[in-house]
Amino acid sequence: MPTVLTPVPLPDFLAAPLAANHDCVKIPEAAVRAMVVPGGYAVPEAMIAALPGLEIISVFGVGYDGVPLPACQARGIRVTNTPDVLTDDVADIAVALVLMTSRRLGEAERHVRGGQWPLGTFPLAHALRGKTAGILGLGRIGKAIARRLEAFGMKIAYHGRRPQPVPFSFCPSLRELAQVSDFLIVACPGGPGTRHLIDAEVLADLGSKGTLINIARGSVVDEQALIRALESGGIRSAGLDVFENEPQVPERLLACPQAVVLPHLGSATHETRRAMAQLVVDNLAAHFAGQPLITPVS
Ligand code: NAP
Repeated sequence: MPTVLTPVPLPDFLAAPLAANHDCVKIPEAAVRAMVVPGGYAVPEAMIAALPGLEIISVFGVGYDGVPLPACQARGIRVTNTPDVLTDDVADIAVALVLMTSRRLGEAERHVRGGQWPLGTFPLAHALRGKTAGILGLGRIGKAIARRLEAFGMKIAYHGRRPQPVPFSFCPSLRELAQVSDFLIVACPGGPGTRHLIDAEVLADLGSKGTLINIARGSVVDEQALIRALESGGIRSAGLDVFENEPQVPERLLACPQAVVLPHLGSATHETRRAMAQLVVDNLAAHFAGQPLITPVS
């Protein structure tokens, strides 16, 4: 059986089928031919260098920003991920964050639980219809978010590296997108190419009536600039599923009542995580059978 390195714990529904067909190890050793890691796990280049027989890295997630692709390409190491099967769940969480921030649902729930309802009514919030959702990264998840928010009567604009044949307004610059957006929604990949794209200037363009939603990667947003914008009223609110140093969330961010914070649960349903696990197993099976990979990244 091929030896597979799993450097961090995996859920049972992935670990069990892996163990059935592979010799799974937790510590790097020369016999390792494959590695399975969660999306976002930063694979050290030194670990790859210490695995002379490594043929494939299978990422349990769609974001592979933690994998040093140039080092893999230089060695001919294949990389796979789990696109498509998680798209709907992540888009649902983006919509949930749009609703939670626009209708202040987190604050409203705390209002009731804190016994404040008898003391006074909860303040009015903001409607979605007619507002503009600006999507940074109109890929699989970005498009699924757009489809959902159109159904709420919202206008859709987007920014990416190139315009696409879609019925949404393309903004050639991110700052332009922020200026036209009521909700600026981050749905692009993480990694060095997108690090801190959302900075103080973009947040200033989004403005005091704007909301930032991030379901992509914490690295895309300058978290300190975001905290300053929330504290000063530079933006109205933020809905965040991802953070720069997960699972650490800065105290100052937690202290902002208008920030909705979730523990990176975009794809966290039984159905989707099992479908992702199956794709990991199927990609490895294809590789070891000498067949084309199902979802290759490179
Ligand atoms: P995708 O289909 O590859 O879409 C990514 C989009 O981002 C592409 O349309 C691309 O468009 C755009 N993009 C890439 N680089 C860009 C840049 N520098 N500036 C602006 N746009 C850029 O990926 P996906 O399946 O939708 O997933 C998107 C990301 O969501 C993943 O990479 C992952 O990090 C994150 N994610 C989060 C969760 C969660 O649990 N919260 C779950 C799954 C995925 P162009 O090529 O036209 O620029």
